[in-house]
Amino acid sequence: MDYLPVFLRLKQQPAVVVGGGAVAARKVSALLKAGARVTVIAPEVHPQVAAQAARGELRHIATAFSPLHLGDAVAVIAATDDRAVNAAVSQAAQQRRIPVNVVDDASLSTFIFPAIIDRSPLLVAVSSAGHAPVLARRVRAQIEALLPSRLGALARFMGERRRAVQRALGALARRRFWERIASGPVSVRVLAGDESGAAQAFGRELLTSRVIGAQAKGGSGLGEVYLIGAGPGDPDLLTLRALQLLQQADVILYDRLVSREVLERARRDAELIFVGKTLGEHGQQEHIHELLLHHARAGKRVARLKGGDPFVFGRGGEELEVLAAHDIPCTVVPGITAALGAAAAAMLPLTHRRLAHSVTFVNGHPDAGTDFQDWRFFADPQRTVVFYMGLGHLAEIVARLRAAGAGPDHPAALIAHATLPAQQIVQGALADIVARAHTRALAPPALLIVGNVAAFSAAADAGGFPAAAGSFTAAASAPALAAGALA
Ligand code: SAH
Repeated sequence: MDYLPVFLRLKQQPAVVVGGGAVAARKVSALLKAGARVTVIAPEVHPQVAAQAARGELRHIATAFSPLHLGDAVAVIAATDDRAVNAAVSQAAQQRRIPVNVVDDASLSTFIFPAIIDRSPLLVAVSSAGHAPVLARRVRAQIEALLPSRLGALARFMGERRRAVQRALGALARRRFWERIASGPVSVRVLAGDESGAAQAFGRELLTSRVIGAQAKGGSGLGEVYLIGAGPGDPDLLTLRALQLLQQADVILYDRLVSREVLERARRDAELIFVGKTLGEHGQQEHIHELLLHHARAGKRVARLKGGDPFVFGRGGEELEVLAAHDIPCTVVPGITAALGAAAAAMLPLTHRRLAHSVTFVNGHPDAGTDFQDWRFFADPQRTVVFYMGLGHLAEIVARLRAAGAGPDHPAALIAHATLPAQQIVQGALADIVARAHTRALAPPALLIVGNVAAFSAAADAGGFPAAAGSFTAAASAPALAAGALA
């Protein structure tokens, strides 16, 4: 270990920065954040430092550096672009045994700045001891993605309750209790911004712990469910929160639409349970409800992972009802729904100032309950309509749109396996989309997009010609074709 990592308390302590450029300004900001009394020595300073000086947040001495400036400083930073000046600062500081950092020069420094992740009061510092700062920053970025943005709020929430817990529980029970708080429903609530819900859940946990503590044995605690949208397939399209909860779930229930690549992001030792439709529509959903209840009651953290978004044709609402009826805490994490993933993959904007002013997501199954009025609405090319679950009924959807007034050249696009390596994009019009789908042997999951935007081509449309019904033909080229996105 080349350095001892420590966190320095600088509140109200004098610190000196020599130099006035952008780098110095960043160091000044870091010192001010830590509460130091900062003096900047530089003939000229960055506008930000000048403003801070004008507001009285720091002292600026507009002269060249002299060792006398160090005074009783507890830390010194040299951030000039003159190596001789930096060396003089380093030497003067070291003579006085004041810790000194020379920016980008570890040999002149007695301390170095780590790359930090600031979730105050929680802090993570990463350092390569000056060997590879770029690598340290990469590691920081990777950790950053795993740490919820409200982690600081969680640390504060726990800190505020330390004393109460100390009074209520013995040492062993206390540790188990805090572990449950840090990874259970309370933390999930705080991290989702629901502090009052968290405070209630905290009270319940504490009560449970006292009862269990009286029985002298640790219990499994309360289970919970995360209803997580897994996005359209590409694992990089998971949200950060989905990833965080997948990393802490004990049990994961997933269905057919969740890609293998997404499942690979789950905690290594999580129990994975496939709940794809095998028992028939109704029986399967009942079975899923039973599994959710069973595992949550056993104290497990259960992730219910669904393709796309849980609330878009995902039956997330029904699962939420069941959980609420049984008082099981649940957190919903939105996902990128297939329509959004497919639109981005095919480079078709779902709304566009000239082409479409609304977008509608429709269940494309014939039994979905849409009526003729709905289809009149869908048949307007200024409205983008995205049909889910429609590939098997494509001919019927086309026929109903035509019957409701859509023309043969009404643009249509099919996107199968959107965002996955097997992605296929077919663009055409109502007159030929069925034949095109057949020729390309499209297989589900696939979405049908109809309306002017289905013929969008960034290159062709850039001119800004006005769009009207039928102003596009099936010959419009897919930008995705040029981008090589076709399977
Ligand atoms: N909750 C999901 C939708 C479930 S319904 C979501 O928000 O995306 C299942 C339908 O979603 C499929 O029939 C198909 O129409 C669509 N779908 C899901 N993933 C898809 C993908 N990667 N590419 C194209 N369509 C997809």
